[in-house]
Amino acid sequence: MPKTVIPVAPARRGLAIPALSRDPSSGPLADTRGRGLRDLRISVTDRCNFRCTYCMPRDVFDENHEFLPHAELLTFEEIVRVARVFRGHGIAKIRLTGGEPLLRRGIEDLVAMLSQALPDVDLTLTTNGSALKQKARALYASGLRRVTVSLDSLDDATFRAMNDADFPVAKVLEAIDVAAAEGLAPVKINMVVKRGTNDHQVVDMARRFRGSGHIVRFIEFMDVGATNGWKMDDVLPSAEVVRRIGETFPCEPVNPNHFGEVARRWRYKDGGGEFGIISSVTQAFCSSCNRARLSTDGSLYTCLFAPEGYDLKSIIRGGGSDEDLSRAIAAVWQRREDRYSEIRTAETARLRKVEMSFIGG
Ligand code: SAM
Ligand code: SF4
Ligand code: SF4
Repeated sequence: MPKTVIPVAPARRGLAIPALSRDPSSGPLADTRGRGLRDLRISVTDRCNFRCTYCMPRDVFDENHEFLPHAELLTFEEIVRVARVFRGHGIAKIRLTGGEPLLRRGIEDLVAMLSQALPDVDLTLTTNGSALKQKARALYASGLRRVTVSLDSLDDATFRAMNDADFPVAKVLEAIDVAAAEGLAPVKINMVVKRGTNDHQVVDMARRFRGSGHIVRFIEFMDVGATNGWKMDDVLPSAEVVRRIGETFPCEPVNPNHFGEVARRWRYKDGGGEFGIISSVTQAFCSSCNRARLSTDGSLYTCLFAPEGYDLKSIIRGGGSDEDLSRAIAAVWQRREDRYSEIRTAETARLRKVEMSFIGG
């Protein structure tokens, strides 16, 4: 039987950039719901050596899957240029992601370029940890000070099944230790919790990292993309995560570090540190969402669940000035209305959306 082809990347060259609805074209921006622009996530590659079942299921991202040709990727110089223009609009934080960002050749050079160009921006990176042991020292030397490592289970069999690349958990745990020893501490650890798959690991993860200084963030399984077979029944609500942890380790909520912080903070009452919950499904935080995403091929996405992005690369490669770029970003942001998680239903979950590995988590 012929295989169904599911579109992974947008089929055409993105949405047209709208006209500026109001000035200024630089400086802080507000969208239609008054939300600012604080956080920029940059996907540096759409490739990954893992096939996490909730992100890049192997039957879709198989040997026939066509990743972007190298010429389509923004170069490091182009990424830095766009980041500078975003800085002009007030972003305070940049996260490098993917795909697996440590697979992008010379990633430490990009870190160095960004940290030199934008020394007052909080620069961080999310990785699956598979190459972090080898790269941690170079990343620190290039100016990276913080890193997030994804880790879905301490149980080796569960971890290997979830990454679907037979990658052992011991190597990720070792990478976390090495990263911390190189100066990237405290490490944030992302665990996507999928009911019936790894939810039995929640308390073990809490136990393992309590007292280490590292912070585990328990993330609700989301309907990103259109290929991961998401069902509401597979979501373990964060409230249940907190209840289960609290049964063993009494805990209490902590005030956010800043407005719009995605993870809600909890701390152990005995002083064992803190953990976070990211409740994108059961407690939507669209009303404070101040994140923009730049895809591997230079499109601007204003929501993780958008079907398409706005093509900035044509401006960059078509001879546009920084002013043109700045106006385009302003025009897009000023018209932004996104609130997907507030209106999610079983039907919306089936709509075409960009894959997370393409725009970055
Ligand atoms: N490859 C890197 C990694 O895994 O850390 C960076 C990219 S990955 C897309 C970024 C984050 O998104 C990871 O922490 C991953 O667990 C999370 N993620 C991916 N698919 C998800 C889903 N369906 N629901 C919730 N989080 C997801
Ligand atoms: Fe790769 Fe990260 Fe997606 Fe897993 S979550 S498949 S490691 S991009
Ligand atoms: Fe932001 Fe879209 Fe997520 Fe809402 S659904 S929090 S608008 S990325």
